[in-house]
Amino acid sequence: MNYSQKTSSSYQDEIRALKHQLKAKEEEIENLQKEIQEQKSVFDTILEGSLAGYWDWYIQDDYEYMSPTFKKMFGYKDHEIENVPTAWQEIVHQDDLPKVFETFNEHINSKGKIPYDNEVRYHHKDGSVVWVYCRGQVIEWDDEGNPLRMVGCHVDITPLKKVQELSLRNKELNAKNKELEQFTYIASHDLQEPLRTVRSFAHLLEERYADKLDKTGVKFTQYINQSAERMSDLIKALLDHSRIGKKVNLKKVSVENILVSTKNDLFALLKETNAQINFNKMPCLYVYPVEFKLLLQNLIRNAIKFQPSGNQPVINITAQKEKDNWKFAVQDNGIGIQNNQLEEIFVIFRRLHLRSEYAGTGIGLAHCKKIVELHNGKIWAESEVGKGSTFYFTIPL
Ligand code: ADP
Repeated sequence: MNYSQKTSSSYQDEIRALKHQLKAKEEEIENLQKEIQEQKSVFDTILEGSLAGYWDWYIQDDYEYMSPTFKKMFGYKDHEIENVPTAWQEIVHQDDLPKVFETFNEHINSKGKIPYDNEVRYHHKDGSVVWVYCRGQVIEWDDEGNPLRMVGCHVDITPLKKVQELSLRNKELNAKNKELEQFTYIASHDLQEPLRTVRSFAHLLEERYADKLDKTGVKFTQYINQSAERMSDLIKALLDHSRIGKKVNLKKVSVENILVSTKNDLFALLKETNAQINFNKMPCLYVYPVEFKLLLQNLIRNAIKFQPSGNQPVINITAQKEKDNWKFAVQDNGIGIQNNQLEEIFVIFRRLHLRSEYAGTGIGLAHCKKIVELHNGKIWAESEVGKGSTFYFTIPL
């Protein structure tokens, strides 16, 4: 074997070995590609499953891949939105676009140190607004430090925004309510003083000038007195109403004990009207005891009061455990209420009868409503004119 033959055979061996290595590398690359493909499909499945949309922006090429979920979030099919940045810029809320660019520039200028984080509104195809939380990151830069590729994801946060808006509105409403209650308290408190003066001068007029007044003058003085007294009652009622819910503590009480004590308090009235109050087994509950007793007392008083003359009031009180609350019912055999008036009776000072027919200020049921709402419950009435009414209220468990 000469030198050239030997060299050529060693070359061939080397080539064979290289070919072998190349094949192994090719196989390795193929396996890696398979692995990458598998991982990408897992990644896509997770992203799509999480209902988050994602985007992949090749900044210099003006190409931006937007995932189907991204587009679906705004009511579009995949083919309905072109994969270019101008496409999303058209559906983003125009008021939010400057903020998007500002955050993007901050991210770029800080070389990615300041995160690209945004809450942005988009227009849904159906005209509604979709709130999106958007987070992105430049993942490739060129040698001059210009961004080449940026990826990010979109999450629909509309329900969260709605809850936030609602709780904000709730807070504002609560503050307004407090302000209004404060105003009612101060107004009714301050009104009492001048009223006291009117009443005392009207009494003086009656006492000292009775002989100097003619019949009409005496009548007028009586009117002043009656009206001042009525106004005093209304102001006192208003003051009581504004006090409900102030300085209250929840306590576990036996409703049965409250009813027994209410019956004792109403002893004279029960005797006078011969009213019969029945109740079944009552629960022990966490309530505001003073207010809760006032609630039952008002309902029972009304049930006794709004009766046809000569009728023996029969009142049945029941408590029934439901899914999330206790439902109480105070049923009477009184005059009843027309269907179209079943809601207005809970409005402050709303009465359906003349005072000459049935005495009262018209605040009792407004008290009841406020007390039930203080317990996060509901109150309503059902009735049949001439047969009687049932007042229901719930107390959450
Ligand atoms: P008041 O008893 O001082 O009139 P309420 O606020 O307690 O005020 O009641 C408002 C109105 O609702 C009453 O004037 C009456 O017309 C009606 N009402 C309340 N309870 C009953 C009842 N049990 N039966 C019939 N009507 C009722």
